[in-house]
Amino acid sequence: MAASTAAPSGHAVAIEVAGVRYPSARQAAQALGMSVSSVQQRAHSPNFPTFRWLGATPGPRRVRTPEDCDVAKPLVEPTRWAFDGGARRANVIDLNVQPPRVVRTVGWLRCMCCGRFHFSEDVSRARLCLNCGGAGGLPVGADPNEDA
Ligand SMILES: [Zn+2]
Repeated sequence: MAASTAAPSGHAVAIEVAGVRYPSARQAAQALGMSVSSVQQRAHSPNFPTFRWLGATPGPRRVRTPEDCDVAKPLVEPTRWAFDGGARRANVIDLNVQPPRVVRTVGWLRCMCCGRFHFSEDVSRARLCLNCGGAGGLPVGADPNEDA
């Protein structure tokens, strides 16, 4: 462990030598012309009462959770469901704006070209199935244009 970050929180440890306060063991060592390890050793030794170990200077490090970080939240996307004949639609919600906004709608949709159902990630824009060259999903059922 680096001498200047000897505290368990990773912050520098303040040291007091004969009434003079140093923000870290390294700065105390530089000011006194000693090595960092001997400053640390003397700060913990009862034989050197003028050396005092004061602990981490800025206090414990703040623990951050993903919720309080200032990064964008992911879109709330519904999981795909089994083929239902196009009955259900579900919204994809963006939680980064207030109030939360619907960015697109997913669901089973008939292809505009072949007429078969496919799961579309955006029912208003991806309206062709994958087989017809669109951005939708794979169609279900037999291809009506294919030769028997
Ligand atoms: Zn199609």
